[in-house]
Amino acid sequence: MARKLRVAIVGGGLGGLAVAQALRGKAEVVIIEQSAQFGEVGAGINVSPNCVKVLREFGLESRLRQSAFEPAFHVFRDWKSGRCLFRADIKGEYEKRFNAPHLSVHRADLHNILSTGLPDASLRFGVRCIAVAQSENSAVAILESGEEVEADVVVGADGIKSAVRGSLFGEDEPEFTGNVAWRFTVPEESLVEPIEPAVTNWLGPGGHVVHYYVRSGRLVNVIAVYETQQWTAESWTQSGDRDELLGIFDRWNPKLITLFKRAGSYYKWGLFDRPPLGAWSVGRITLLGDAAHPMLPFLGQGAAMALEDGLALGLLLSQGRPVAESLHLYERLRLPRTSRAQLGSRGRAAENHLRSPLARLKRNLKFKLRKFINPHSTLHNGEWLYSYDVRNAVGGLG
Ligand SMILES: Cc1cc2nc3c(=O)[nH]c(=O)nc-3n(C[C@H](O)[C@H](O)[C@H](O)COP(=O)(O)OP(=O)(O)OC[C@H]3O[C@@H](n4cnc5c(N)ncnc54)[C@H](O)[C@@H]3O)c2cc1C
Repeated sequence: MARKLRVAIVGGGLGGLAVAQALRGKAEVVIIEQSAQFGEVGAGINVSPNCVKVLREFGLESRLRQSAFEPAFHVFRDWKSGRCLFRADIKGEYEKRFNAPHLSVHRADLHNILSTGLPDASLRFGVRCIAVAQSENSAVAILESGEEVEADVVVGADGIKSAVRGSLFGEDEPEFTGNVAWRFTVPEESLVEPIEPAVTNWLGPGGHVVHYYVRSGRLVNVIAVYETQQWTAESWTQSGDRDELLGIFDRWNPKLITLFKRAGSYYKWGLFDRPPLGAWSVGRITLLGDAAHPMLPFLGQGAAMALEDGLALGLLLSQGRPVAESLHLYERLRLPRTSRAQLGSRGRAAENHLRSPLARLKRNLKFKLRKFINPHSTLHNGEWLYSYDVRNAVGGLG
């Protein structure tokens, strides 16, 4: 009997767990994770229909639905007056159009759901990969301790600062995009007034604020982004000071300020990205998720793309082709789509943060026109993102 394919996954984030799920029972998988245990920062994440379809493939959709919140609308609001600039139906509508709902979930819950059923033996915590190497017949992940983990395939799912990427394509630094995101949550019982059951996006000069419910409506997740050239912290994420946040947004709508004051703790993140790569794979080694295509979070697609990658790679590696051929097909399928999402996310930053009142007026009129021409238009013109189905796309490769 032929032995199972051995796959070493560097990084146990959302993307690494997705490829492990896609290979469950089909390959011998080991996940190399530098943290001592899983510990996602408390924050929310939007799981768009294309991403829900991936969880469906893993048999995890019902668990996702149990802990998520299904928003009724996507809304753009003016930063100061709170006037609605654009509204799109989500609940019911997306399921009809894209064959899956849009769900908002806590990151820790999503991470937990994605680790369902993975054998304990496949998870190695507290081990850091520093490089990768390969020969004709195998590849290795080289750990800080000097140990080499040998496999038929090595997948770099080790995030934006990927050691695997550096080892394959040379070290280079991700770029600070001039955006800092504050992230915090507010328990529903602490709200001064209820919040609309929507993913609401307030657009203002040099910044925007997004909020939505997670955990079946028991918690509100808030992301407040503003432009600055300063990010001096060594770490990319650090706890933030409430007064600093309130000072930055003090001219914004009072409802937001009231909401901001109800959180217990605050974190801020410098937002980094990289331009699209021309290739992700060399021989038996490839990249996935933020390691391959880090993007700004303004289309809400970073994790969705990582999960799509994971399923596509798992399906292709299970089809029995030589490894290098599978990795070539994976890259051919995924690279154009993820590059478009990377560049699209950058474009959104500009439109979200317009400073000139005239430019904002033009943008708002464009929203009106778009709604008039197509009443079903989605917030970010996201039809190309949401209608995608990984299994069909892999099948289409022939
Ligand atoms: C403010 C903000 C909001 C966002 N909102 C959304 C959203 O609404 N929807 C969405 O789809 N996406 C969103 N994203 C993007 C999403 O969070 C990322 O794209 C996603 O987490 C990428 O997953 P990943 O598995 O590729 O990388 P990561 O989540 O970074 O995981 C990498 C893992 O690898 C481990 N690791 C790193 N280096 C090594 C090493 N050398 N050896 C061993 N282990 C290592 C890390 O510890 C980590 O566990 C948002 C991001 C931000 C910053």
